[in-house]
Amino acid sequence: MIPVQGYTGQTVAVLGLGRTGRAAAAALQAGGATAVVWDDSAPAREAADAAGLDLRDLTKAGAFDGVAALIVSPGIPHLYPTPHPLIAGAWDAQVPVDNDIGLFFRSFATHDWDSFDTTPRVIAVTGSNGKSTTAALIHHILVENGRPAQLAGNIGRGVLDIEPAHDGEVVVLELSSYQTDLARSLTPDVAVFTNLSPDHLDRHAGLGGYFAAKRRLFAEGGPDRAVIGVDEAEGRYIANQLIEGAGDDRIIRISSGQKLTGDGWSVCARKGFLSEHRKGRQVASIDLRAVAGLPGAHNHQNACAAYAACRSLGLGPKGIEQALHSYPGLPHRSQVVAERDGVTFVNDSKATNVDSAAKALQAFPKIRWICGGLQKEGGMDALLPHLGHVVKAYVIGREAEDFARQLTGADAVVCGTMDVAVATATEDAQKGEVVLLAPAAASFDQYDSFEKRGDDFMAQVRGL
Ligand code: ADP
Repeated sequence: MIPVQGYTGQTVAVLGLGRTGRAAAAALQAGGATAVVWDDSAPAREAADAAGLDLRDLTKAGAFDGVAALIVSPGIPHLYPTPHPLIAGAWDAQVPVDNDIGLFFRSFATHDWDSFDTTPRVIAVTGSNGKSTTAALIHHILVENGRPAQLAGNIGRGVLDIEPAHDGEVVVLELSSYQTDLARSLTPDVAVFTNLSPDHLDRHAGLGGYFAAKRRLFAEGGPDRAVIGVDEAEGRYIANQLIEGAGDDRIIRISSGQKLTGDGWSVCARKGFLSEHRKGRQVASIDLRAVAGLPGAHNHQNACAAYAACRSLGLGPKGIEQALHSYPGLPHRSQVVAERDGVTFVNDSKATNVDSAAKALQAFPKIRWICGGLQKEGGMDALLPHLGHVVKAYVIGREAEDFARQLTGADAVVCGTMDVAVATATEDAQKGEVVLLAPAAASFDQYDSFEKRGDDFMAQVRGL
């Protein structure tokens, strides 16, 4: 655990008692603060009470008297579509609102570091898609190259749950837009921006607000090194805002598809080859086509981002290349779950938005595509140019008929549920084809989470 610094002897309120809130309360207490906690849900409050946490009804008048800060969980809207009333209450009471990420950055460095040979570092990864894959890949490369490392944030472990850093350790954080938007301290040593496409627009009042939330990671703390995907205008804009001049190698530009030229530092992947350029010269090249755990151009973008972040910490190209080959992949992201009669089954349940599904559809040549679920804003139009590899779509979800209707130009059948979709797609599939779950939609109409949806897909495949 990272004991929170700066609140010793003070009272700090925690709103939301999921994993993040409970970890924040414990870390505050460990740092000598008094954590008072609250949740809108009565069962969550009862569980917290039973666990010995100090409940305070923040809805009562004067509840914020003597409170030094309010720490909120990422699932609680702080501004859009409307601010949670208790967050608005904290504003009115002039109590600073923060989150676990802000607490982490103000607490991570300790006096022990004075005796370390190598100062610990933090790499923070944001972007619309590929954050988890990139963060997990960076962590894997570091560990394989003998660098002590911990992985946390939006992936797996809460940031305040990690262990205090050892000499030379690197902490790799995956940060969502909700997290970067609210954190009062955001000071990674290396900041990574993978890409931008519309998502979570309701929580940010549109694309501009969503981008602004992500941009804070680069604008607030001034990272020593920034790894920036420049395939969209937003990435080029951030890179340009940070750059002092053409050869400024504090910025490493990355791309999947474009050849990056010029004097600076860049890493790009084209036609399956990653290449690194520095000061106008190519300094390394890696054949990514042979890297089984990272299929498709979108994963090659993640490979570029992870490669660049690790290079910025001084790792050599050869060591990184070897680690790419041993990367096992993450569940529910381009995960090969079975091969049967020459047909490959791939679970990409994490493709919850149109952009990530479009990328998955580029990664394989002939696809029996299981899609559908709770649609996000913006509809399916952005997917339509990417249906060329789809032999047939098998649509699930409560709105399956409407979803199928929007897939103009594709052969689509309404299946409704996963069992029917897997069975029908398998029956139709020919040797060499891929049965791909890449829903292009959220899972909540039929499942609790994208993980549950992916698990169901895998169970149906196993049951064939
Ligand atoms: P995030 O943590 O940003 O959601 P993940 O690594 O979990 O990212 O991947 C989410 C989804 O997006 C998966 O379906 C994955 O196949 C797809 N994806 C992964 N990397 C990229 C990328 N660079 N660009 C677009 N889609 C991607």
